[in-house]
Amino acid sequence: MITMKDIIDDHNEKIREVSKEVALPITNEERELLLQMHEFLVNSQDPETSEKYDLRPAVGIAAIQLGIPKRMTAIHVLDFDEDGNVIGADDYALVNPKIISHTEKQSYLKDGEGCLSVNDEVQGYVPRYAKVTVKGYDVLTDQEVKIVARGFLSICLQHELDHFEGTLFYDRINKENPLAPIPNAMVID
Ligand SMILES: [Zn+2]
Repeated sequence: MITMKDIIDDHNEKIREVSKEVALPITNEERELLLQMHEFLVNSQDPETSEKYDLRPAVGIAAIQLGIPKRMTAIHVLDFDEDGNVIGADDYALVNPKIISHTEKQSYLKDGEGCLSVNDEVQGYVPRYAKVTVKGYDVLTDQEVKIVARGFLSICLQHELDHFEGTLFYDRINKENPLAPIPNAMVID
């Protein structure tokens, strides 16, 4: 099972490496890795398991964060109702996902972003597209998928796809004024 010791941080220059496309069909090893990445996210959001193994809660992880420069990422985003009950989840284990279209309109997380590979809290708004359409091969359902994502999921996908280019969320924060308003952007809680 993947734990925090497997994850490289931004002091490791490998985090800046550009990841390579994965040849399809993927190997059993690649499939197993992606499923483990997804399992890590589920474990990290489970209060008992995350405490037992000292996992930082995460909604997404890219293979480069394990030091593997392949365009693979897993996502586990839970949907909650107003009372905090889980009403659904967005789960993906994607190979070669790509943004095929996006809105001009932007969005950002009100409290900024975090990353398994960034140990310090970095303040600032990270401008993202408000809505993206992503295409890729999903190992959880074993099929080519087209994901139309808005809101938090859209931000998660863009954050993970940035890892493929060696880009970290704080690269996108306005250096002079990290909390400068982003015109016309949707604010996500
Ligand atoms: Zn990250």
